[in-house]
Amino acid sequence: MSATAGVPSAVAVYCGFRPGGRPAFRAAAVEFGALLARQGVSLVYGGGGRGMMRAVADAVLDAGGTVIGVIPESLVAAEEAHTGLRPGTSGSRLEIVASMHERKARMLALADACAVLPGGMGTLDEMFEVLTWAQLGIHEKPCGMINVEGYFDALLRFLDEAVAQGFVSETDHARLRVASSPEALFALLS
Ligand code: AMP
Repeated sequence: MSATAGVPSAVAVYCGFRPGGRPAFRAAAVEFGALLARQGVSLVYGGGGRGMMRAVADAVLDAGGTVIGVIPESLVAAEEAHTGLRPGTSGSRLEIVASMHERKARMLALADACAVLPGGMGTLDEMFEVLTWAQLGIHEKPCGMINVEGYFDALLRFLDEAVAQGFVSETDHARLRVASSPEALFALLS
């Protein structure tokens, strides 16, 4: 599926619908989006028009890249679906799907790697679904996160505890690749 061996052709990014409390969160989203566009890698995301989601999408568009948003019909208004994803030379588009489940399945189908940036419950739900589906052998797509300013530290400590207590295998734990910068994450996904 990759355009070049090892380099993904499309990355699904999961991140907050809100901007979060630190400027570094948005900065990481912008930097990662610009990096994807520079590398010729398409962004697949939830199609939202606010917060971290909007920041990463706009960074890709501003750098001339391709953005595919996937949003359930019921959330088009609530999540202020991005109005700039029109088919053009870049191939950007907004796909409107019937349900949340369809959104998640479609996003994963369109991408060949997954990236997690700071976000809330929705972001975590999406990340764990990608990881558990990998654990079940449903896909083999790499999944990594940018632990911006330690935002995910507590979650990563909990996952260590889950391994220590025998609920998560070392192999499954290692499926979540952790990077401290957009460049480092891109390298981990390639
Ligand atoms: P959040 O991280 O909570 O700001 O949410 C980020 C994105 O995840 C938003 O587009 C939400 O619509 C989406 N989301 C929220 N809950 C779920 C869920 N259960 N499954 C999939 N996506 C979700």
